[in-house]
Amino acid sequence: MNLGEPPPRLSRVTTHALDDRYGRVATDLRVSLTDRCNLRCSYCMPAEGLDWLPTDEVLTDDEVVRLVGIGVRLLGIREVRFTGGEPLVRRGLVDIVRRCKEIDPTVDLSLTTNALGLARTAHALKAAGLDRVNVSLDTVRPETFLEITRRDRLHDVIAGLEAARDAGLVPVKINAVLLRGHNDEQAPELLRWSLDHGYELRFIEQMPLDAQHDWSREAMVTADEIFAHLEREFVLSPASEPRGSAPAEKFLVDGGPATVGVIASVTRPFCGDCDRVRLTADGQVRNCLFAREESDLRAALRGGASDDELAVRWVTAMRGKRAGHGIDDPTFLQPDRPMSAIGG
Ligand code: SAM
Repeated sequence: MNLGEPPPRLSRVTTHALDDRYGRVATDLRVSLTDRCNLRCSYCMPAEGLDWLPTDEVLTDDEVVRLVGIGVRLLGIREVRFTGGEPLVRRGLVDIVRRCKEIDPTVDLSLTTNALGLARTAHALKAAGLDRVNVSLDTVRPETFLEITRRDRLHDVIAGLEAARDAGLVPVKINAVLLRGHNDEQAPELLRWSLDHGYELRFIEQMPLDAQHDWSREAMVTADEIFAHLEREFVLSPASEPRGSAPAEKFLVDGGPATVGVIASVTRPFCGDCDRVRLTADGQVRNCLFAREESDLRAALRGGASDDELAVRWVTAMRGKRAGHGIDDPTFLQPDRPMSAIGG
């Protein structure tokens, strides 16, 4: 499709796919509910935090639900993942989940969270219609947790994980980022712990999305290194199930059935199969984590745009989606927004 083409016309009853010029169709919506976080992971943001979005720029609960509804009813969204920042710090989270589930109960609703406070809310979230959680946890050693997150809260994360499993927010997945010289040697220990507790562990390569712009290709721990660490203690073999658009490559651990995933966004990009689109907490559509342009749905929404008009803007925003994130390209520029303000 040509970028210069006029946007498609939608009528009140028309649905439209969020397809791009390369034939990919976005069906998985990541919704950031806040840019604020109660941890300070060193690879994400500085110790003092960031200049948070002013409250009046953040979408209200009603606005979030309306945009999710447009995505689901008009644009073919089938999965919605709430993220941030830390989505559990958003006061209206349970209600947002309930109202989004009511739009279409067959849409898969999940949450990416650091699990602080999840012990208190897991059952309410499940009752509201949340299907699953992904919990971020980079180590099971308290001292390493404090070093990486700058907060002594490992016990809260562990309690949150247990509550998620008890509430039936399954499969409970754990996402871990390895940092050279901090927790990379602990990869087998984290896998053993996850297997013992029935959690599905996935390692994510560190990406150039930190607020401090400290990321470097040389310093990041690559997928090959992750395998090397794990293979000190485990035998890994490719899982036979097709990967589809899933970011994680799955491996059987010691012949299975347990698996471990590796999300090699940098060294083995999977952009060709990407089915994701993002909505930031301040109502901007991003067609890629690494996009340098955004489409402002909040201004249009607050300016009185109809659902159809918002849908057309959204469809148009997908046209500019690039073939790949281009991290390895010499012209690569890190996006202005850090991961915490986009929604991981
Ligand atoms: N606060 C929630 C959490 O901790 O899961 C959601 C937001 S957080 C930004 C989402 C995920 O992004 C976490 O798993 C975190 O480890 C990961 N992350 C943050 N910065 C990253 C980076 N530069 N590269 C890769 N992953 C990163």
